[in-house]
Amino acid sequence: MSGDRVLIADDDVATRLLMRTALTQAGFNVIEVTDGEAAVAACREWLPHAVLLDVEMPGMDGFASCAAIRALEGIGDVPVMMVTGRDDVASVELAYQAGATDFVAKPLNWGLLGHRVRYLIRGGKTRQALLTSERRNAALLDALPDPLLLVDGAGALIAKLGGGGEGRVATDLVLSSLQSAPRLIDAGGVAKVLQQAREQSEPLEFELPVRAQSPGGQQTFEVRCVAAGADEYMLLLRDITERKRDSDRITQLAYFDDLTGLPNRQRFSEILQREINAANLNDARLGLLYVDLDNLKHINDTLGLAVGDAVIKSYAARLETLLMLHGGTLASPTVARFGGDEFMLLLPSLKDTRQALQLAERILAVSAEPMRCGEHEVLITVTVGIAVTPDHGTESADLMRNAVTALHSARDGGRNRLQLYHEPAGAALRDRIALQNDLRLAVAQNQLALVYQPQLEIKTGRVVGVECLLRWHHPQRGPVPPSAFVPLAEESSLIMPLSDWVLQEALRQVLRWQREGFTDLAVAVNVSSKLFSLCSVSEWVSCALRDAGVAGSALEIEVTESALLHDRAVVMHALAALADNGVRTSLDDFGTGYSSLSYLKDLQLDTLKIDRSFIADIADSPSNSAICGAIIAMAHRLGLKVVAEGIETLEQLAMLRLQGCDMVQGYFVARPMPAEQCTAVLQAARSRNLSAGGINLADLGQLSGDDVGRLLGTGSY
Ligand code: C2E
Ligand code: MG
Ligand code: MG
Repeated sequence: MSGDRVLIADDDVATRLLMRTALTQAGFNVIEVTDGEAAVAACREWLPHAVLLDVEMPGMDGFASCAAIRALEGIGDVPVMMVTGRDDVASVELAYQAGATDFVAKPLNWGLLGHRVRYLIRGGKTRQALLTSERRNAALLDALPDPLLLVDGAGALIAKLGGGGEGRVATDLVLSSLQSAPRLIDAGGVAKVLQQAREQSEPLEFELPVRAQSPGGQQTFEVRCVAAGADEYMLLLRDITERKRDSDRITQLAYFDDLTGLPNRQRFSEILQREINAANLNDARLGLLYVDLDNLKHINDTLGLAVGDAVIKSYAARLETLLMLHGGTLASPTVARFGGDEFMLLLPSLKDTRQALQLAERILAVSAEPMRCGEHEVLITVTVGIAVTPDHGTESADLMRNAVTALHSARDGGRNRLQLYHEPAGAALRDRIALQNDLRLAVAQNQLALVYQPQLEIKTGRVVGVECLLRWHHPQRGPVPPSAFVPLAEESSLIMPLSDWVLQEALRQVLRWQREGFTDLAVAVNVSSKLFSLCSVSEWVSCALRDAGVAGSALEIEVTESALLHDRAVVMHALAALADNGVRTSLDDFGTGYSSLSYLKDLQLDTLKIDRSFIADIADSPSNSAICGAIIAMAHRLGLKVVAEGIETLEQLAMLRLQGCDMVQGYFVARPMPAEQCTAVLQAARSRNLSAGGINLADLGQLSGDDVGRLLGTGSY
């Protein structure tokens, strides 16, 4: 109080004197003025700590003067005490309206005036300190980047305490989002969530998506919520839109396929794990459909990768639409992209396995509809493997593996089809896949070899040809028969390098034999029917002949009946071109069910090879024997030579001779053997030929010469 300045404004000189005396004694510095205008001026110049204003003064009265002081810059907060002669309620009311801090009625208690003014000044200073602190707080809150809202228990705004300034956060959008955010609704509504914040010691935190004012998106806030007063809650909002966008992007990259936007394998595995746990728990059925585009590679190769990508994209959309339309009864089916051209569909809560099969059938049907990609119209087919819990596994890894297995066996069955997993195929197929992988190395690691089986002309007893047969010496499994690995090679692209190797090796052997003087010996090479769709067989053969320096006449190409099933025109053309090159051709395995003699006349063939299965019971079955005779006669009429395959007994040989069969090949004559051994046989046969004009079958290790001579009725062998 010492030295605090007090301004007295009163037109009554006596009152002024008494006031001054009382206040000076109480230690104040006092200045006096006699009217309202002077009071305002003195306030401005002198900056008093308190003002005592008489109400009734000439000119500007106390009320007007108080109001003018309040409007002053820098001093407007000074405590003002109205000194009134009337203690009526109306003037008290007017005093407060004018901004007075307090009032005192005349006559004054002079002894108490000093105290009264001291309290007035102290109250003023406290208020001043409070205002300063509030201003500082407001400045501080305003400087915060994060908005701070004060809301009531229902989430309605009490005050916006600052943060970010207007425009950065639209408070009304935040408040309405509080009411409509699904996560808060799920938690029982905003009131419940706020109540929870009151009950826990830590601030309650949650994420709040807010529809953004700016076009193109939404903002996400991290909200921290603490109870402030009885029914008040402080919400501190932090804008995490960027952070969220980044983490969403990272999730997108890690869990979704870039091209189609579908979940990737990783994400799918997680969903599957979750769903399979739920299905096992609820005794529900869950299905996996593994969908593979059959001809994407072809599209990529012919139309380019961009079209290939577009096909994958539209196909993904097709699958999604299909699930939307036809997966209606299924709880949230998922489709994921598994890699290049593979998709996996997860069908939770299946009624039965049939439902999965029906959906797979729909997929086949929908896939077959032409697809427009820019200026191209693309046709695709797909193959689908299906596995269903619990029959095909209750663990996600088992179910997934079995869906893949089912897909592979569907592929083996010719693609563009569906296949439900079944157990035995699993193990067998795994073994085949392992074998197929080993086969890739076989050529490079020199595990392949050819063996040769002589073909004997019955009439002369001469070895007129040799068929070469492929052998694979597997490092662990030992010898693998061609029936076990040629089909594997045919399924993959391996058939081409394999066939190359066989043809080149056979031609190398032909050269060796030619150097040894076997100049009119023809070596027969088996050609897979698959080759006709992979290359021009006639060009492939003539290139190999040219490279090896061998004439076409030393080669015979064996084609199986199944080749004719693929594309007869292509095969016909190839056979004719081979004939032009001097290469002989034969139809292998005749009688196994595909071809009929009637269309053989359209093909430029030299020889027909009657299949071993047909020859096997020829001696015991009169009907087989008759049919065999008819085939031979018919073939002769078509100008074809006939080879009987798989001759194992003398009876068979005798019978075929009677029926006019031209040549025989079989264990009875000779087993397939390595080249050196075959050379020895050829040499033995040649020396016999020179002396007796024929070959003694006994030299081939099967029979005594007498037996053969007797049975064949020649006596000269
Ligand atoms: P294929 O061309 O009909 O060959 C005749 C098959 O009958 C050979 O079986 C041969 O060893 C067997 N065989 C010959 N005489 C007898 C006999 O008296 N009794 C019995 N039980 N079997 C006899 P292999 O070598 O196992 O070949 C099986 C098939 O594999 C061949 O049938 C041929 O279709 C295919 N193959 C063999 N080598 C090649 C090749 O280099 N390329 C292609 N694409 N296929 C080949
Ligand atoms: Mg053959
Ligand atoms: Mg055959």
